[in-house]
Amino acid sequence: NVEVGNATAEGLLALASGDVSVPAIPHYKDFDAYRAEGGYRLLEECRSGQRNVDDIIAELSDAGLAGLGGAGFPAGRKWSIVRGFLGPRLMTINGDEGEPGTFKDRYHLERDPHRMFEGALIAAWAVGAERIYLYMRDEYPAVLEILRREIAALDAAGLTADCPIELRRGAGAYICGEESAMLESIEGKRGLPRHRPPYIAEVGLFGRPTLNHNVETLWWLRDIIERGAQWFEEQGKHGHKGLRSYSVSGRVREPGVKLAPAGITLRELVDDYCGGMADGHMLKAYLPGGASGGIFPASLAELPLDFGGALNEHGGFIGSHAVIVLSQQDNVKDAVLNLMHFFADESCGQCTPCRAGTEKMVKLLQQAPLDEDAIADLEEVMRDASICGLGQAAPNPVNHLLKWFREDLMEPQAHRFIAERVMHD
Ligand code: SF4
Repeated sequence: NVEVGNATAEGLLALASGDVSVPAIPHYKDFDAYRAEGGYRLLEECRSGQRNVDDIIAELSDAGLAGLGGAGFPAGRKWSIVRGFLGPRLMTINGDEGEPGTFKDRYHLERDPHRMFEGALIAAWAVGAERIYLYMRDEYPAVLEILRREIAALDAAGLTADCPIELRRGAGAYICGEESAMLESIEGKRGLPRHRPPYIAEVGLFGRPTLNHNVETLWWLRDIIERGAQWFEEQGKHGHKGLRSYSVSGRVREPGVKLAPAGITLRELVDDYCGGMADGHMLKAYLPGGASGGIFPASLAELPLDFGGALNEHGGFIGSHAVIVLSQQDNVKDAVLNLMHFFADESCGQCTPCRAGTEKMVKLLQQAPLDEDAIADLEEVMRDASICGLGQAAPNPVNHLLKWFREDLMEPQAHRFIAERVMHD
């Protein structure tokens, strides 16, 4: 493969010939390059007994590493819980990345995939997992090709002899990013979220205790263990710990994945990492956590962006750190309707409050004047009675529309803030 700019010659030729079966592969750090920089030394130290599982769990806990797929559950605690259940145990990696506005896992895997693989093999060693299933979004053909190549390289180097890595492709369903639905999908069934308890740490994939991590959570492991918990912890801001990969899109001058402190405010993220607002745009609103994390007004642009804390107190959350920035040229009611259509499309249909509720919410939002009592009733039912987070969080944007953006209820719905393509990317 000859590199041409950011893609390989093989990929570019395939594109030129119209053969989309061979994706353009970006330039990335392959097995040999990663190994030459000291990669997999840490894994070997773990496997040879030079490192102790309890010490590593303590390090992760001190660093404050939390699940970066969106739930924010402490990684070290998760390892301890899974280890507490009788084996055999399994591990899954969630690379489904279906949350609207999220593209950080793709960013990392197209550049440095072995950093995640090494984290995954260390995690599997720590909890005694016998096999790793990597569930990958099928809309990322270049990533899939990279993963196939690099798993083969790991196999050839003998690093997966005791813990094989199996690649499984998703089929485009948003709900398969929910961890228990993902397990169903890996088992070859329809991706429906499971009732809990039992939690997957106890009864997970194929009924086994299962450790599940998002791509980015694993991606940070090597740095935290090699550089120490204190290093990671000190990267945070405003009393928060660590670094995060924010996927920033919308009305900013330089959108993209930004490695920035946990707890940074939206204002700082836009000004210091995105070159400010795009020309002609003034900050009006932002979505801190993709489709379900709510929509916040510019007056709350100084809240720290992190799990829990102020965002939660205002009825939203950071989730997978997908930050979408809106300006005065955008109509928030249009944005909310777009999101509710998305939820209605992506509801798995298993429970009535979500299946019927998301469709009903679309209809209620299209009425004029709005029946706000009916919206409030429906919101309560969806939050209380939906099985999983999709139905429980779907009313968040509607709630915020009525709380902070009432002026947009009166305007014609002329401003399409995000094209359909972007919402589903
Ligand atoms: Fe399916 Fe929605 Fe119920 Fe979740 S809340 S199980 S997505 S119908």
